[in-house]
Order: sequence, then C-alpha cells, then structure tokens
Amino acid sequence: MTAQILNGRAIARELRNDIAAEVANWGSQGFRLPGLAVILVGNDPASEVYVRGKRKDCDEVGFHSIVQHLSENVTQEDLEARILDLNADSSIDGVLVQTPLPEHIDEHRIIDLIAPAKDVDGFHAYNIGRLAIRRPTFRSATPRGVMMLLDHIGLEYKGLDAAVIGASNHVGRPMGLELLLAGASVTTVHKFTRNAPEKVRLADIVVSAVGKPGLVSADWIKPGAVVIDVGITRGENNKLHGDVQFDAVSEVASWITPVPGGVGPMTRVALLENTLLAAKVNQGIKLS
Ligand code: NAD
Repeated sequence: MTAQILNGRAIARELRNDIAAEVANWGSQGFRLPGLAVILVGNDPASEVYVRGKRKDCDEVGFHSIVQHLSENVTQEDLEARILDLNADSSIDGVLVQTPLPEHIDEHRIIDLIAPAKDVDGFHAYNIGRLAIRRPTFRSATPRGVMMLLDHIGLEYKGLDAAVIGASNHVGRPMGLELLLAGASVTTVHKFTRNAPEKVRLADIVVSAVGKPGLVSADWIKPGAVVIDVGITRGENNKLHGDVQFDAVSEVASWITPVPGGVGPMTRVALLENTLLAAKVNQGIKLS
C-alpha cells in the first residue's frame, strides 16, 4: 500500500478562504472585525516564525491583529498586567501567549489568567474541561486542526480504535478527548508506556505528538491506518522533522500527513476559527 498524502496546507487554504468570505461583509453590516492579540516573549526564532505566520493568516482573512513583543526579562507581574489589559480590551476577541515562555515565568498562572471567553488557543482549564464533558467551546487548536484533517477524509469514527502518542496538556490530552468525543476508542501512549508499538499497532487512527524524530516506524502501524504526525523538531539547517518515519510508514498506512505541510497549517486555521467564534459570541452574531 502507498499512503495518500493529507495535504494540510491545501485544506487550510480552503478553510481560510471560507473564513475570509464570511468576514468580508462584516464591516458593511456594522460589525467589528474579529481581533486577535498575540504576546511574544523573548527572541526564540521558531516562536517568531510562528507569530509572523499567525499575523499573516489574520491579514489574509481580514482579522484585526496585534502583536506585543516583550523582552526576555519581562516580569511575571508585567506579563500578567498585559493579559488583564487585553482581557478588558473590547477590540480584541482572542488572546494568546506564544510558548515556550522563559523559565522565570509561571506558564500555568499565565494561562489561568486569560479570560476563558478569549482563550482561542483552547489551553485554559475551563475550555479543556468543557471538551472533557462533551460541551466544547474553544477547542485546543492543534487537536482541533487534526480533527479537521480527519473529517476531510470522511472518517466514521464510531467503532474505530485510535492511539495518541504523547500526553501533554496542549496536544496529547485534548487530542484524546477530541477522538473520544467523535466516537473512537482511545489509547494514550506516553513516556512511561510499556510495549508502545504493540498498543499503537491496534489502532486505525494514529496521532503522534512527541517531538522525537523517527520514533514511529512502520512496524508500529497497522496496515491501512491513518497516520497523523504532529511532531516538529528542528534539525540541521533548520530542516523540520516529524515523529514518523515518513517513507517507511507510507508503505503501510492509508493516509499520512507530511512535516511540514500537514498539521501545522491546520493548527493555525483552528486558531482563526476559534477567534471567529469568539468574535461572533462577543457581538451577538448568529452562530452558523
Ligand atoms: P511535550 O514535550 O509537552 O509532550 C511530549 C509528550 O511525549 C509527553 O507527554 C511525553 O510523555 C511523551 N513522550 C516522550 N517520549 C516518548 C516516547 N518515547 N514514547 C511515547 N511518548 C513519549 O510536547 P508537545 O507540546 O505536546 O508537542 C509535541 C510535539 O508536537 C513537538 O514536536 C511539538 O513541536 C509539536 N507540535 C506541533 C504543533 C503543530 O501545529 N504541528 C503544535 C504543537 C506542538
């Protein structure tokens, strides 16, 4: 079998076009454009690239966006004050703080402080909790992006087995909740799991979110499984690597995502969708 490629870049482009079309006539109807605020701390080159990408996406779909670029030495107090200001700013629907943050910053406190109604990254405990009780509002952007990819190939989740590799707060855990919500039976594999390949080999859907290039080899994959690679590791010459051995796994899987060009663009589009949703709620626009 040679897997078909799930082209996140192309699917995200279509979804951005839909968002842009929806927002295009907001101005003429008297609505304020959706607004996204991003806080970037320090000069991590990868974070700068991600933030530039988010800004470009906002421009493309007609959102208002601002970036607050703060020094590496910003204090916890100053960063918290910025968030409180943005929470109170009526031109801003979504607030996100680019991670990773410097060691001296307490990231949990920062995420806790973002107003749940502006938490377009879907990281706040309130929003993760809503997903857990099957009443999602702002869904964590990367898992949501993965679900949009899986929806694109028309998967019927009910009765399928899924394996999520990685159990982080931002990706692995909400990913498991999304798949469970969709009707799959979910196994989570993490760094303490014994016999991980054996467990993953039972799955019809495999999502890997670890950050270890080449971790997932062909013998982890059941023939015909759908394989989604969330992992991104920067190697020599800034080349990006996924968790999955792409060439070998392509011989076994039915669908596979490339890195780059798979999950990354979908994460960004999920963020736009969350911001659009926040803007609609804030302005009392009927949800479509
Ligand atoms: P993380 O470091 O917070 O979590 C990694 C998880 O992997 C942990 O739960 C850990 O238990 C697990 N793990 C470690 N070694 C393992 C092993 N040998 N077998 C199984 N599990 C193991 O990372 P994260 O924030 O969840 O991100 C994971 C990867 O996804 C990173 O490469 C990150 O860059 C990437 N990422 C990509 C996107 C995107 O849009 N494509 C978004 C977010 C994160």
